[in-house]
Amino acid sequence: MSNHQDKVIVITGASSGIGEATAKLLAKDGAKLVLGARRENLLQNLVKEVEGLGGEAVYAVVDVTKVEQVEDLAKLAIDTFGKIDVWLNNAGIMPQSLLKQKKIEDWDAMIDINIKGTLYGIGAALPFMEKQKSGHIINISSIAGHIAHAGSSVYSATKWAVRAISESLREEMAQDETNVRVTIVSPGAINTELLESITDQEVKSNTEEFYKNFGISADRVALTIKQAIDLPEDAAWNEVIIRPTKQL
Ligand code: NDP
Repeated sequence: MSNHQDKVIVITGASSGIGEATAKLLAKDGAKLVLGARRENLLQNLVKEVEGLGGEAVYAVVDVTKVEQVEDLAKLAIDTFGKIDVWLNNAGIMPQSLLKQKKIEDWDAMIDINIKGTLYGIGAALPFMEKQKSGHIINISSIAGHIAHAGSSVYSATKWAVRAISESLREEMAQDETNVRVTIVSPGAINTELLESITDQEVKSNTEEFYKNFGISADRVALTIKQAIDLPEDAAWNEVIIRPTKQL
């Protein structure tokens, strides 16, 4: 059950945090990984680490807001390994702020990366999964996709959107013969580089304080993703919230 040797797994946002931790965990089971993100040096290092851990990996520099680059990531998986078993839409940013600050660039970036990036990933993976009549799309949402608070508006909206898209995809897939599984993973406070994307200094330092008290390792989310993949293929974890035990 925990052997991923035959599985081809595409990860967006693989260069750090949850994506990187997931790549390393799956590598230990011999998975074949296709890694996408913008920071090439980090991807190059990760490929070496994956190989050292017993997996195989290729990478592509991908900006998930560019549909053709996301399509190329899918083609890289097919050209290298011949199939796509799992596509993990993980790339995301979280520049939270109050709406009255009118940080329009941040709003646009979150909508483009968190929502459109996820849609482009689904669009790139589905044609191959439909042909294979199997596959698994895992979308990273957030606890912020369940709860909105002052300052989380646009981030929460994008993560809510990820859940809506995922549930709709799940039903669409259940109605045809593709056997494609859909899983939403909604993490709480996880210690990664995500807070670096916050442009409002006050929000950033408050969030850092919160994470210092409550945040847990990205390994925990990686484990959750691995467990979702490991389920027998006639069952799917449709959504899991994974939060630090102590997070309020
Ligand atoms: P990180 O900042 O460590 O990872 C984000 C990843 O996304 C990086 O690899 C980054 O790589 C990539 N990325 C950002 N923008 C783009 C882009 N335009 N194109 C391609 N890749 C991009 O944070 P996390 O690991 O925490 O974040 C992963 C996901 O988890 C996100 O969707 C986030 O919203 C979600 N999440 C995180 C939580 C947390 O507390 N950490 C809680 C709930 C959800 P690069 O810069 O190299 O492109």
